[in-house]
Amino acid sequence: MVIYMKYELVAGLETHIELSTKTKLFCGCTTEFGGEQNAHCCPICIGLPGTLPKINGAAIDYTIMAGLATNCEISLYSRMDRKNYVYPDLPKAYQVSQFDFPLCKNGFIELSSGKKIRINRIHLEEDAGKLVHKNGDVYVDYNRGCIPLIEVVTEPDFRSADEILEYIEKLRLTIKNIGVSDCKMQEGSMRCDVNISVRPFGAEKFGTRTEIKNMNSITFIGKAIEYEYARQCELLDEGGKVVQETLHYIESENITTSARDKEDAQDYRYFPEPDIVPIVTTAKRVEELRQSLPENPFVRMVRFESDYGIAAEDAKIIVRYKLIADFFEDSVKNIKSPRNAANLIISSLFRRMPTETEKEDFSYRIDAAHFNELLTLLDEGKLSANQAKTLFEKMLDENKSPHAYLTEADLTAPDDGEIEKLCRDAVDNNQKSVEDYKAGKDKALQVLVGYVMKATKGKCDGALVKETILKMIS
Ligand code: ADP
Ligand code: MG
Ligand code: ZN
Repeated sequence: MVIYMKYELVAGLETHIELSTKTKLFCGCTTEFGGEQNAHCCPICIGLPGTLPKINGAAIDYTIMAGLATNCEISLYSRMDRKNYVYPDLPKAYQVSQFDFPLCKNGFIELSSGKKIRINRIHLEEDAGKLVHKNGDVYVDYNRGCIPLIEVVTEPDFRSADEILEYIEKLRLTIKNIGVSDCKMQEGSMRCDVNISVRPFGAEKFGTRTEIKNMNSITFIGKAIEYEYARQCELLDEGGKVVQETLHYIESENITTSARDKEDAQDYRYFPEPDIVPIVTTAKRVEELRQSLPENPFVRMVRFESDYGIAAEDAKIIVRYKLIADFFEDSVKNIKSPRNAANLIISSLFRRMPTETEKEDFSYRIDAAHFNELLTLLDEGKLSANQAKTLFEKMLDENKSPHAYLTEADLTAPDDGEIEKLCRDAVDNNQKSVEDYKAGKDKALQVLVGYVMKATKGKCDGALVKETILKMIS
């Protein structure tokens, strides 16, 4: 990002996350993504007169869990309010949201630098429908309408695009990990509004902010921030003034443009939702929910390093996918070298699941118990790393125990004396490669090592073979 020497970026984020309850916030309609337009609707969620909403208890629990996972205080008394505005995506002409009594307050997310991004509040609300533009006409699809949504609002604590991107990633992993949302940005179940202002370095007073609405791609959020920061700096340099307004980021042109609705000037005339009783929770219930939360992925990462002795980098990419991290832990019970498990998962398993979604939804047919058998054979020195990798690939194909592929003979790896003899054969039968290697062709060594590996069907340790051959020829 280009840094304008004179100005500091100040930003705050409002993140909307759809909760993965089975049914909508006030009715029994499904929350499933997609489907035929307006098929997931009923008189309640399209707000027909005379209908009465009934709040979904799971959505309340999920919101509290999100608050607990982000270090918030949970309000034992909370309530829903009507936020009034007229727009076609909102059939009732109001959105049921929370105003002055949100469910969660005063949390934070800690960045890797140790800096804490304060969370002002997390409140529960209903999602709006979706406008679909086609051939110059506008259609509306209310399938998304009334799906429970939380809004996570930070204080204006961000000072760089990197901090914002790290926060989004941490928030996403944290919320996904507790299972209250799939946080799929590409499907719009997690969307960010970025509020940006600039001020001269050293100044205390914040500048006027603009708000870029509804972004759901990390790449484009980064670009939009960069663009908007530069735009405001240049405007101020030219003696202009930033106008408080809502912007849309146009991905194809990498610019922000003013949204027509002057939302910031709007008065929503919030008032308590009369059809829904206040939400009263007990400290005991909050404690139960706290106890039910799985370990935070960042805490888990540090524990993986210390409990299993795996590299920080490996721990980081494994805890990123909760189901794979669970599989790892189930597999390494009583295993002396859990590193072997990490290596196989990262090299072989990940290769079969190239997309993030595949890794996140990990549903590969492989039993932890079978993997544990393979790791035990490795621990006992009965398999070489190469052999283990080959077997693991087979296990991924067929989900069988490694023993299904091994005979007793296979399990006896050649001893050092045998390896020494085979290395001698390799050298004697490949004089040309020996000469080539001595002449500086490093690759020629591979021919010699390959000879031994082939003779033992990959059953011995490649590093040991290499070392033995090197000793013989130098
Ligand atoms: P509103 O309710 O009108 O959207 P809020 O005060 O709740 O306004 O702020 C919305 C978001 O904007 C919050 O994330 C907040 O941190 C951020 N924000 C407020 N003032 C500024 C500012 N001057 N610069 C950047 N971000 C700001
Ligand atoms: Mg706002
Ligand atoms: Zn409905």
